[in-house]
Amino acid sequence: MPATNKVTNYVEIEFPAVPENVEFARVAMACFASQINSFVLEEIDDIRLLTSEAVSNSIIHGYPGRPGIVRLRATIADGTLEMIVEDEGRGIPDVKRAMQPAFTTREDRLGMGFTIMEALADELEVYSEENKGTRVVIRKRPARSA
Ligand code: ATP
Ligand code: MG
Repeated sequence: MPATNKVTNYVEIEFPAVPENVEFARVAMACFASQINSFVLEEIDDIRLLTSEAVSNSIIHGYPGRPGIVRLRATIADGTLEMIVEDEGRGIPDVKRAMQPAFTTREDRLGMGFTIMEALADELEVYSEENKGTRVVIRKRPARSA
């Protein structure tokens, strides 16, 4: 067995906050996560959805109607995938409130992104500061290990 907490692989991607990059991020994360052999197809689908919810939030809410940068970092350590989605956008004034089901600041959305992320991730952490940015940390490990 490798030493615990050993980082076996990582990837860092930075891209402009445009909707075209949501699909790119989804595919990139699904591909990276596939290195964990014990993930079943359904879990890889979960990772796709987790990625698009977090990245879409940065694009739509972080930088509404203005350009910006989204940073995506992912690490595989001890058979667990950790993804960090980060923007330097508008930030969230009240994270606890924002994470409640059906809370949205946009009338054209459902306010279900964080609820979906909570359901699909093993661990979800959201750090945000108004006008500084938002960082979402998602951890997922296979339900069954090989
Ligand atoms: P849906 O995800 O269902 O399309 P939504 O994006 O509004 O709707 P959530 O993803 O749960 O719902 O986010 C809730 C709220 O948190 C958003 O409406 C927005 O106000 C705020 N928010 C989320 N992510 C960010 C971010 N990266 N920057 C700024 N605000 C954010
Ligand atoms: Mg959302």
